[in-house]
Amino acid sequence: MRILVVDDSITMRRIIVNNLKSAGFTDVVQAANGVEALSQMNGVELVLTDWNMPVMDGLTLVKEIRASAAFGNVPIVMITTEGAREEVLEALRSGVNDYIVKPFPKQVLIEKVQSMSRG
Ligand SMILES: [Mg+2]
Repeated sequence: MRILVVDDSITMRRIIVNNLKSAGFTDVVQAANGVEALSQMNGVELVLTDWNMPVMDGLTLVKEIRASAAFGNVPIVMITTEGAREEVLEALRSGVNDYIVKPFPKQVLIEKVQSMSRG
């Protein structure tokens, strides 16, 4: 399963990618913002995206993916510090399948990814 990890923090991307690889998810591509992410969507089966990013933020990315004919059904998990109820509801209304609040234990990330890969 190809996973696209989107975060403007290279440190956070490295943590997420290492967590995924340790759980056997080795087909991982990366992007630093929503614009880069949209250019990398070919073959992607799961998107893990940050919320706050320059150029294009995660919420806009979610809306762009959901509006896309080619990628509209790809599962998306939002990884964010925006834990407030209103933000979470807005993300879910915009088409996010699930969300993770930073900081997160590795096991939480892996369980969400595994549940998405089971469809
Ligand atoms: Mg960020």
